[in-house]
Amino acid sequence: MPECVECGAELPRSAECWTRVHELLEVENRVLAGIDGETAKRAHYFAIASYQLQHPSRLTRAAAEGLRSGVREMLGPGAPSIDAFRRAVGRRVSGTKVGRVAEAGDRHHVHSNWPRRWTVTAVDVLAQPDDAYPQAATEWASACLRDLDAALTDPSTASS
Ligand SMILES: [Zn+2]
Repeated sequence: MPECVECGAELPRSAECWTRVHELLEVENRVLAGIDGETAKRAHYFAIASYQLQHPSRLTRAAAEGLRSGVREMLGPGAPSIDAFRRAVGRRVSGTKVGRVAEAGDRHHVHSNWPRRWTVTAVDVLAQPDDAYPQAATEWASACLRDLDAALTDPSTASS
C-alpha cells in the first residue's frame, strides 16, 4: 500500500492524504453536535492541529512551531478554554503567514529531524468508533507532541 510521505500512513483511495481531513470532519459532523461544546471544540482543535503537525510542508516554520506550542498548552494542566486560547493565538499570529504552498513532503523549512513516522496518525483515529473520537483526537495530539519532542530534542542545546 502506498504511504503518505509526510505522516507515513496508508494513503486513501484518492491517493491524497488530505482526504483524511474530510473523513475526520465527517466523523465530527456525526459526533460533535451531541457532546458538550468545550469537549467538541477541543477535539476539533486537537485533530486538525495533529494532522497539520504531521504535514508541515503545508505550514510556515513559524506556524508549525506555533502549533506545537499551542498543542502543548492545550494539553497542559492549566489549559485555557478553547475560545480564550483561540483569541490569544489570533492576537499572536495576526498578520503572519500560516499556510505554505510546496511539494507534498517538502521539509526544507523545518527541523531536519521532523518525524515522518508517527505513533498515531489520522488512520488510527478514523479506525475508532465514533463515540471514542474526542478521546482519540486528544491522544493523537499528545502522541504527536511526544514524537516531536523525542525527535527534535538536540542534546547540545537542551540546556539553553
Ligand atoms: Zn499524511
